[in-house]
Amino acid sequence: MENKRDYYEVLGVQKGASADEIKKAYRKLAIKYHPDKNPGDKEAEEKFKEAAEAYEVLSNDDKRAKYDQFGHSMGPQGFGGGGGGFYSGGMSMEDIFSQFGDIFGGHFDFGGGFGGATGGRGGSRRRPSQTRSGSDVRIKVKLTLEEISKGVSKKLKLPIWVKCDHCNGTGAKDGTAFNTCPTCHGTGTVRQVVQSLFGAQEAIGVCPQCEGEGKVISENCHYCNGEGIQRKEEIVAFDIPAGVQDGMTLTVKGKGNAPRRGGINGDLLVVIEEIKHPELIRDGNDVIYNLMLDVPTAALGGSVEVPTITGRARLNIPAGTQPGKVLRLRGKGLPSPQGYGGTGDELVNVMVYIPENLTDKEREAFESLREQPNVKPSESTVNRLFSKLKHIFSND
Ligand SMILES: [Zn+2]
Ligand SMILES: [Zn+2]
Repeated sequence: MENKRDYYEVLGVQKGASADEIKKAYRKLAIKYHPDKNPGDKEAEEKFKEAAEAYEVLSNDDKRAKYDQFGHSMGPQGFGGGGGGFYSGGMSMEDIFSQFGDIFGGHFDFGGGFGGATGGRGGSRRRPSQTRSGSDVRIKVKLTLEEISKGVSKKLKLPIWVKCDHCNGTGAKDGTAFNTCPTCHGTGTVRQVVQSLFGAQEAIGVCPQCEGEGKVISENCHYCNGEGIQRKEEIVAFDIPAGVQDGMTLTVKGKGNAPRRGGINGDLLVVIEEIKHPELIRDGNDVIYNLMLDVPTAALGGSVEVPTITGRARLNIPAGTQPGKVLRLRGKGLPSPQGYGGTGDELVNVMVYIPENLTDKEREAFESLREQPNVKPSESTVNRLFSKLKHIFSND
C-alpha cells in the first residue's frame, strides 16, 4: 500500500483546525504549487494534488469525521491506497480546478488552459449555461532587460485548437447536417418540474439534448469527428508593453483555443519571464550595478565605463568617492508598465578595491602615503561618513 502523508500534516494545520484555517492553508498551497506557476515541475504537481486531496476530505464534515476516526485506509469507504477508496487513482486536475470557485471566489482565475499550448481542447467549464468558450492557452515569453525597457512585439507559432474549416466549427458535416432537436422540437427549452418551498412547480430550462440550440447534428463532420475544432499551428502576434516584470501575465483576448462546436475563443495568457542580465540587477523600475573602483580613481576622481540596459555609458567619479556611495544615472532604469510613475534610474553601488598583492614599487608608494596628513580620517570625518551610511550600520 502506498505511504500517504497525514492530511493535516499536508495542509500544515492542527488536528482541531477550523474550517476557515483549513481553507486558508489550502489556498496558500494551491497558489504555491499551482502547475501554471511551476510548469513541468512534477514534484510541485504532486504537492498540488496532495493538497487538493487533503482539502477535499478535510473541508467536508462527513469525510473529515471518518478520516479522523479511521485514517487513510481503514474507513468503510477508504480514503485511498486500497480498494474502492475515493482517491485510489488520485484527483484529476479538472476535479481540483472545480474546487477553486469555492475557495477563491470569483476572482481567482488561473485560466482554463492548464498545460499551456499543449492543453486540452475547448470546453465550457467556466460558463456551463452560457455561450461556450474555449480554454485559455498559457505560454511563457522570455525577455531581456533591453526588450523590457522598450516594449516588444512578438510573433509566435503556437499549436492551438481552431475552428474546423470543413464544418465552420459546427461539428456537422459541411456545416449543414442538422436535424431539429427531437426533445425540444427546436425551441431549445424544456419544461421541468422543480421542487420548491411551495411544492412542485413548473420551470423553463435549457434543453439537455441540444443545449439550447434547437438542433442536433445528423451527421458528424468527418474531419473533426463532430468536435468542430482542429489542431493547428497558428501565428499569433501581440505587443508586450515596456516595463513588464517577471511573473506578470498579460491577457491577449480571444487568441486561445476555440471551443467545441462554436462559441467564443479562450484567451492567450502570456507569462513574462525576465532573462537575468549578466551585470545589472533589477530592483523594480531601477537597476543596480555593483562597481569596483580602484584606489587611485576613488581618491583622485576620473571616469569609468559602466554597463546600462542599452549599452555602455561613461560615469564620472568625483574625487574622494567613498565605498558604499551610490551614484545615480538618471532615467537609465525601466519605465513603469502603466506608463505613469516615470522611468527608473541606474544605481551604481561603489565599492573600492584594495590591492591584495603589491610589488616593491607599489608597497613603497603606499608606505610613503601612510604618514601623510590626509590619508588617515579624523574623528569628525569618520562620523560624517558613517552617518551617510546609516542604511548599513544603524541602531535605530
Ligand atoms: Zn469539422
Ligand atoms: Zn433540444
